[in-house]
Amino acid sequence: MPKRNALFPKITVRCPATSANLGPGFDIAGMALSSPSDLMVFEVLGERAITIANSGKYDVPSEADKNTLGPVIRKICADHLISDGFKITIEKNIKPASGLGSSAATAAGAAVALNAMYGLGLSKKELIAYASLGEEVAAGFPHADNVSPAIMGGIVLSSETTGRIEFAAFPTIDLDLLVILPGKDKGSTKIMREAIPDRVDWKDARANMQAVSLLFEAALDSSPEKFIQAVHRKDLIVEKARATVPALSHLPAIQALGDEYGFGVFASGSGPAVIAACLPSNKRKEEFARGALDLFAKQGIGVETNWAKISGKGVEIVGRDGKISEVRCIECGHPEQDDAIRCSECSGLLEVAHNFSNIQINRKLFSSRNGSGVWRFKELVHPTIGDRHIVSRNEGNTFIYTHKSIDEYAGISGILLKHEGENPTGSFKDRGMTVAISEAMRAGAKIVACASTGNTSASMSSYASLASIPSTVFIPEGKIAVGKLSQSLAYGAKIEQVKGNFDSAMEQVQKKSKMEGLCLLNSINPWRIEGQKTIIFELLMQLRWEPPDWIVVPAGNLGNTSAFGKALKEAKVLGLIEKVPRLLSVQAEGAAPFYRMWIGKEKGLAPETQPETIATAIRIGNPISWPKALRAIKFTNGIVEKVSDQEIMDAKAAIDGAGIGCEPASAATIAGVKKLVQAGIIKEGEKVVCILTGNLLKDPDATIGYHKAKLEHVG
Ligand SMILES: [Zn+2]
Repeated sequence: MPKRNALFPKITVRCPATSANLGPGFDIAGMALSSPSDLMVFEVLGERAITIANSGKYDVPSEADKNTLGPVIRKICADHLISDGFKITIEKNIKPASGLGSSAATAAGAAVALNAMYGLGLSKKELIAYASLGEEVAAGFPHADNVSPAIMGGIVLSSETTGRIEFAAFPTIDLDLLVILPGKDKGSTKIMREAIPDRVDWKDARANMQAVSLLFEAALDSSPEKFIQAVHRKDLIVEKARATVPALSHLPAIQALGDEYGFGVFASGSGPAVIAACLPSNKRKEEFARGALDLFAKQGIGVETNWAKISGKGVEIVGRDGKISEVRCIECGHPEQDDAIRCSECSGLLEVAHNFSNIQINRKLFSSRNGSGVWRFKELVHPTIGDRHIVSRNEGNTFIYTHKSIDEYAGISGILLKHEGENPTGSFKDRGMTVAISEAMRAGAKIVACASTGNTSASMSSYASLASIPSTVFIPEGKIAVGKLSQSLAYGAKIEQVKGNFDSAMEQVQKKSKMEGLCLLNSINPWRIEGQKTIIFELLMQLRWEPPDWIVVPAGNLGNTSAFGKALKEAKVLGLIEKVPRLLSVQAEGAAPFYRMWIGKEKGLAPETQPETIATAIRIGNPISWPKALRAIKFTNGIVEKVSDQEIMDAKAAIDGAGIGCEPASAATIAGVKKLVQAGIIKEGEKVVCILTGNLLKDPDATIGYHKAKLEHVG
């Protein structure tokens, strides 16, 4: 039998209490409660056995077949060819048989946990169907009134017709709920169910229907007032059961609450139990709670009470171990937290390493998707992130241009220019940013920051505002292209000017992010590299997975060189391509420490203390990512080259003049190609792709200056 491996061998879920027997919505309308909740930890065990341990307040059956999770796990395993066993640790905080959906929480938790552990992709409806099997253990038949809200959250209407479960989920309502649970030995599910008549009078049924429809009207309108009216109506079908509850409505303390409260009765579990609802603004609610307690005490009924809210959340995954994507050190392999910046052992750079062995990778899937040109390749970028965390502007999907005049300029035919300036904020940075911001959202970041010469900050500001979180940009004073700074300002970023150059700004932001808990989004953030890889994946897809001979990229902080190397390596390992193209990384002469290291074959990189070039996007003297970039150049049998500002601006004029246009840094690619063609390294007949990284409008001063022939050092 084929074996399915767990994507995550250990998963922790939080399962909410639910109420499904409230007032007139008896057995069809359920709601998730904000408290209490159970925690369940699922761990894969080699053999096909289920062991259950409990660390909570209340006991649970320790035999799988007597516990509601048993049938759920067995059916899912049978349907999906899972032959593992499990160790399950439950922290049981929802009192069993109390009418608070204790058994449903366990069953729902099992369905959600297995779905996530094995990446089964089950729909909510399928999860509800599986979880409802567990209720058979508790109640003698599968039913979904508690498991539906346990999985969906909020208020849920569910019905079962001949084995099919249908449900509709409604928004939550802001109410304070007083949950009054009976002490021990007061009735039982069986006794309470006997109070329900066999036959129902038509008039009673109609009155109940009206009350139920009012309940859903309340949910649709998010109206606490209507909700209170609905649950306060007499439930004529369970009236006998309701009559066993002390008459709350006769209490003076409750009468004083007027129209601001209502109550309903559970008619199951060791009931009778009560949920009373009141407006959060009600100032007398504590008085009401005490009054209710007194009333029950006078009747000799011991009760526990607690306040809760209707929760919008169903079972939540709160922990995941044995990751598919791990942040780890490129030097020593030490695994780090997802939001780490440097290795805690050796200060090495971090990268995201994916374990692709359980992930479906196929070319057809990639090309069949619409929308973002980054998330099209989700499996290669961030396989496990949930869609709700993804912050995207449908970035990528950039065009590839050719032009005879550019071929003539560079001295070789058939040059392809992939224009990353066509991304939403005008540069390739959007590709890395959508991934890094999405990961920051997943990790719960409250503020994001970067040091930037322009394009990064423009991109970060846009995506942060899209995600509704604040952003701060650290910029080197006076060393930034105006067009780019204006973007950040416009998108709403806070700007902090730092004395010195880009590298000082970078140092500053790293220091601050450590101290102030900012999420750093420079390319040292390994998730950025994951997004930038899609330039290569998209290019390869556009070329029908037939790689070119050369891929040429401007080289400043070396993020793209690093990302391209990683992408090509992964594409090769996964069998997406046969041949690996050579990378040509082109630096500007005045900011070329990587080039100097490359030709001198030095061991480390000697930073350029005063980097100078007209190509602001690559004016970087101390590129942090150089070890990754070096690895990329070596893996691809690549070359590092440098070009002068004159060569950059001449090449830019050729690209602009062809009607394509780009920012100065991008033109370093064509300048580099021209140089290597002249040197006889790039030969006629070889397929060359240049990556244009930024839009023409990014650096207007350079363009205008060039054409007015007013720029320093450039004729
Ligand atoms: Zn390390």
